[in-house]
Amino acid sequence: MADLNIPDAPTIEGATHLHSGKVRDLYELPGGRLLMVASDRISAFDFVLDTAIPDKGEILTRMSLWWFDQLAELVPNHVVSTDVPDAVRGRAVVCERLDMFPVECVARGYLTGSGLLDYRASGQVCGIPLPAGLEDGSRLPEPIFTPATKAALGDHDENVSYDAVVREVGEDAAAELRGLTMAAYSRAEEIARGRGIILADTKLEFGRRPDGMTVLADEVLTPDSSRFWPASQWRPGRTQPSYDKQIVRNWLLSPESGWDRAAGGPPPALPAAVVERTRARYVEAYERLTGQTW
Ligand code: ATP
Ligand code: MG
Repeated sequence: MADLNIPDAPTIEGATHLHSGKVRDLYELPGGRLLMVASDRISAFDFVLDTAIPDKGEILTRMSLWWFDQLAELVPNHVVSTDVPDAVRGRAVVCERLDMFPVECVARGYLTGSGLLDYRASGQVCGIPLPAGLEDGSRLPEPIFTPATKAALGDHDENVSYDAVVREVGEDAAAELRGLTMAAYSRAEEIARGRGIILADTKLEFGRRPDGMTVLADEVLTPDSSRFWPASQWRPGRTQPSYDKQIVRNWLLSPESGWDRAAGGPPPALPAAVVERTRARYVEAYERLTGQTW
């Protein structure tokens, strides 16, 4: 496991800390609901960086809430309220505690990332055969469901076949997860396209209520869980410009950062200009997608 460098979660009065991921901290509230807090942390190359991006937690929280609303007719979601303690106001959500399905429900309309690696190795992604000749960023003939199993903290998720999901959760639940994932992707893709943004892929997580109802959980359709590309700059056959931490990744890999990735040490702190450009990129994504001013 990589040295993730996750700082201790801040203490929140009246809440019990349960878990910290690379970017978010999860707490339990009295009565059993969850408080999901998005920090300003940013990760790259499997390290949590020492430098935070101001407002990132709030931007992503607001974007996720906006998307939950857009998808509300398709699937219920876990959001209960945004009335949260002052210390985390704007970047935390109270949600129902669900029995989570152990599946990362990924939909892809375009080929890149781990999907591209699998395709290059086997001509398939998650057991789904694809036509020859696709490149980095190619649009797929139709969107596909490419589930992954959740890895332990710091490990990479593993792409799995649909049959593996059936074995894990049963035939009915697998079909439901696939159906909901593809419906949510196609709705979101259409909305984003109307705003000049390609939603290349997205990862959703679902859980079950005690009554058996399947509910959309976690965060949705943020640059941390999805790939958003400016449509005007889309050109298959290269890495696409994207609305995420690409600025950070590019700088870390540039000679200017002085970071020797291969040596395995942690990346250096980010210069102020890189922080500001990254923040501006998140704000731009938020404003373009939601039509609201940050
Ligand atoms: P990473 O930083 O790689 O994402 P992680 O997944 O362990 O690591 P988080 O995403 O911050 O870290 O963790 C949030 C956890 O909360 C996940 O395990 C997610 O499945 C879970 N979760 C999300 N929504 C709910 C919910 N409504 N009920 C119960 N668990 C939830
Ligand atoms: Mg997670």
